[in-house]
Amino acid sequence: MQIIFHCPRCEANSDCRPHPDDAPVECSRCDWCRDAGSGDFDRINPAIVTRCRVCGCDDLWRQKDFPPVLGWLIVATGILLSSFAWAWHYPEWAIGTLMLFALADMILYIFMRDMLVCYRCRARHRKTVMHDDYQVFSHELSERYIQMKKRQDEESALR
Ligand SMILES: [Zn+2]
Ligand SMILES: [Zn+2]
Repeated sequence: MQIIFHCPRCEANSDCRPHPDDAPVECSRCDWCRDAGSGDFDRINPAIVTRCRVCGCDDLWRQKDFPPVLGWLIVATGILLSSFAWAWHYPEWAIGTLMLFALADMILYIFMRDMLVCYRCRARHRKTVMHDDYQVFSHELSERYIQMKKRQDEESALR
């Protein structure tokens, strides 16, 4: 497992690879550490993460572990090559290239693994086992967490 997160103490972007999976999560910059042991994992199947390993939040969404920029780059290259072929009067090559790149994009997308992202602290959990219950991103739920954070910030500002 690899966890990419924003450290709650020093606020640096940190990257932690706990080994074994339920080992403590540590910041690479400061001495922040969270050790929930097996508490973050499913009781029946201890390989499955059920809570955020950084803040303990139960709400996680699943997302393709695939940088969207890469997807766009592949499609853009395909279109570029295909328009060259078109300009040089090779229409079959133009269509063939476009289809090939679209296919490559699709295959890459299918075989990319999913990762889990925390609604509260946005920590990304990569290379982790997950069950099918995890849903994709929900704007409604995300908005709820944003409002919750806003309220907390206001309250702590008043104190
Ligand atoms: Zn830190
Ligand atoms: Zn979290």
